[in-house]
Amino acid sequence: MTRIGFVGLGNMGLPMAVNLVKAGYAVTGFDVVPAALQAAAAAGISIADTAAGVTQGAALVITMLPNGKLVLGVYAELLPAAAPGTLFIDSSTIDVDSARAAGAQAAAAGMQALDAPVSGGVGGAADGTLTFMAGGEAAAFARAMPVLEVMGAKIIHCGGAGAGQAAKICNNMILGISMIAVGEAFVLAEKLGLSHRALFDVAATASGQCWSLTSYCPVPGPVPASPANNQYKPGFAAALMLKDLTLSQEAASSAGAATALGRHAMEIYEAFVRDGNGGTDFSGVINAIRD
Ligand code: NAD
Repeated sequence: MTRIGFVGLGNMGLPMAVNLVKAGYAVTGFDVVPAALQAAAAAGISIADTAAGVTQGAALVITMLPNGKLVLGVYAELLPAAAPGTLFIDSSTIDVDSARAAGAQAAAAGMQALDAPVSGGVGGAADGTLTFMAGGEAAAFARAMPVLEVMGAKIIHCGGAGAGQAAKICNNMILGISMIAVGEAFVLAEKLGLSHRALFDVAATASGQCWSLTSYCPVPGPVPASPANNQYKPGFAAALMLKDLTLSQEAASSAGAATALGRHAMEIYEAFVRDGNGGTDFSGVINAIRD
């Protein structure tokens, strides 16, 4: 039986690891939070005493951590302990520069590596329907595919090391900007005496159509499953949107790209989170626009 090491058993990592167990993989996990380890053990995951411990007998190691600094710190423990040729998959959302550094350090240690961040949230992690955006060598991607297919429904090879993270933050920059655009349009419609339904019916089939409008509408009514119909409970928390917009701005300044609307969207979400809305769904930004 193939053994997989898994570091970071939080909201996303635990359900992803559980799906691997259900698919018949042996999984050894580690987290710094004891409650996460207890939940993992109850789900059939073997527990290691240290991060390095997950590499024992593992052909593959997955990390699902909060940021790039932590990923590089954990890689510094994992790489010397792992058997040569182990495949490292980092599914955390982190900055492109750290992702490239992690890939380079893994390669220098004789390992294969992919950055493979996800979209789809905790629901997608539990259902095994995440989208994976992968960066790294084609051989590493081919080797990872059967494992990624257990946790995800759509898996895209985006290019070399860091390309998965680049795709993730570019996509989420579009999402952050477009949600604000849709929110502003509904607020303007309200001031003009135009009903939500009328704007939705027109824009959903006209050139204003976008995912923020038709799949995740920020006003209650037109899209029954959107968080607007559920007191703006996440969904995708505003704090995570702010994280991704901040990463896209870091990447834009590092790469010398002009992203004026991306910067403005980040500032709007910064204010929204500062006002105590970090745990609110990101579509709730419409209420700050209205106020
Ligand atoms: P989380 O905070 O619930 O989980 C992270 C886990 O990492 C925690 O259990 C924490 O204890 C553990 N951890 C931190 N430092 C560690 C260390 N040194 N060694 C071992 N474990 C350590 O976060 P999450 O929601 O599971 O998100 C994980 C990653 O996935 C983040 O990068 C996030 O941006 C990304 N992501 C999250 C979502 C979402 O909807 N939650 C969606 C897409 C991507």
